[in-house]
Amino acid sequence: MKNRSRAAAGEKDRRFVWHPFTQMRDWVREEQPVIQAARGCWLEDTNGRRYLDGVSSLWVNIHGHRKREIDRAIVRQLGKVAHSTLLGLGGAPSAELAERLVRIAPSGIEKVFFSDDGSTAVEVALKLAFQYWQNRGGRWRGKRKFVRLPNAYHGDTLGAVSVGGIGLFHKVYGPLLFRTVEGPSFYCYRCPLGKRRASCGRECLSALARLLERRGKEIAALIIEPLVQAAGGMIVAPDGHLAAIAELCRAHDVLLIADEVATGFGRTGTIFACEREGVTPDLLAVAKGITGGYLPLAATLATRRIHDGFLAPFRLKKTFFHGHSYTGNALACAAALANLDLFEKERVLERVQPKIALLARLLRRIALLPHVGDVRQCGFMAGIELVRSRRTKREYAYAARVGHRVCMRARDHGVMIRPLGDVIVILPPLSISRRELEFLCGVVERCIREETE
Ligand SMILES: *Cc1c(COP(=O)(O)O)cnc(C)c1O
Repeated sequence: MKNRSRAAAGEKDRRFVWHPFTQMRDWVREEQPVIQAARGCWLEDTNGRRYLDGVSSLWVNIHGHRKREIDRAIVRQLGKVAHSTLLGLGGAPSAELAERLVRIAPSGIEKVFFSDDGSTAVEVALKLAFQYWQNRGGRWRGKRKFVRLPNAYHGDTLGAVSVGGIGLFHKVYGPLLFRTVEGPSFYCYRCPLGKRRASCGRECLSALARLLERRGKEIAALIIEPLVQAAGGMIVAPDGHLAAIAELCRAHDVLLIADEVATGFGRTGTIFACEREGVTPDLLAVAKGITGGYLPLAATLATRRIHDGFLAPFRLKKTFFHGHSYTGNALACAAALANLDLFEKERVLERVQPKIALLARLLRRIALLPHVGDVRQCGFMAGIELVRSRRTKREYAYAARVGHRVCMRARDHGVMIRPLGDVIVILPPLSISRRELEFLCGVVERCIREETE
């Protein structure tokens, strides 16, 4: 009976579920792992096979699965109320969480607008930035455009796609998107200006300075993933890049939107990536790790200046007319509070530092493999770019799916990872043990070698 119901889960999945970012024609042809349980950094499928969760269940998990403190916080909250609306009412867990978020955010951030996932947090940031200038009126109303960066990823809703820079995901929707201005790339391995990081004069920043000089009057905001463009291929910015961009934005009255959906909550080794370069953005989007990987929740954090730009007599209609049904959900906020408690109680940031150094050492070995073109790491986010030729940086054919093949092979060795094209991603829960991290990198090294020889 039990086996029948297990087989049935896989069968039902193939018959009824349309998976994200998945060519379903291929999906339904083979049996796929169906996860039924998890503990710590390990996932278990319906056949009882275990896999190390090497990408934190798509970059969300922080302290592992079935973390007692978060489990309990959710159960405790269930005994009070699961959900009540923030439209016209306060909520105890969301109020508490808002205060905690402001306390850990860069100084100057004072207000929290809740939503449900990274994409909506970005939509909110874009609409706030746009309306902020409209509310100000006069010549400021001409500030309507957004600067987006090549290889950026900010989510899959249409506003977020408009400021995205990944052709494969975004190009087809072109006719539906609003107009943006493209800023300079910081993908140094493939620098569009043909420079090398070690010897360049940061010509990309001068290009941005010229752009803002020329068109600042029509630009509402620049949106950036601070320190790391995650979905773009774990592209790590040079030191000081974010601070320099923040400075340019300030100088030209262009708002800075920091999308920390991937980098937030300890991923880069500090609670927020902005902290590393002493940057306070005008708007800060967070999601993924906010609940420790348990429940959907997101927030757009704002400075007082942005918030106060919406204060006006009721009749002037400067209100922010935006909100979602589950905004500030009590269960999700309870999970988020437990997540933040764990950061303190278990000194997570302190304890992850030696593991970040260990990851760097393990990556150095992987970097020696003949088809590894570039290895990029920032904290506990890492990308390994596979190339056909190291010398010319020539890519593999799209249809060869080399990255995918490496990850499928890793499953046979008990490691669950998911690539970004031909970039192999290593992004484990911050709670991973040293032994597990060594195992993860060992399997990745072996699978890259076997698939690219
Ligand atoms: C994942 C991601 C998003 C989108 O978040 P969802 O919760 O998937 O909607 C936005 N920005 C960045 C930087 C992300 O990594």
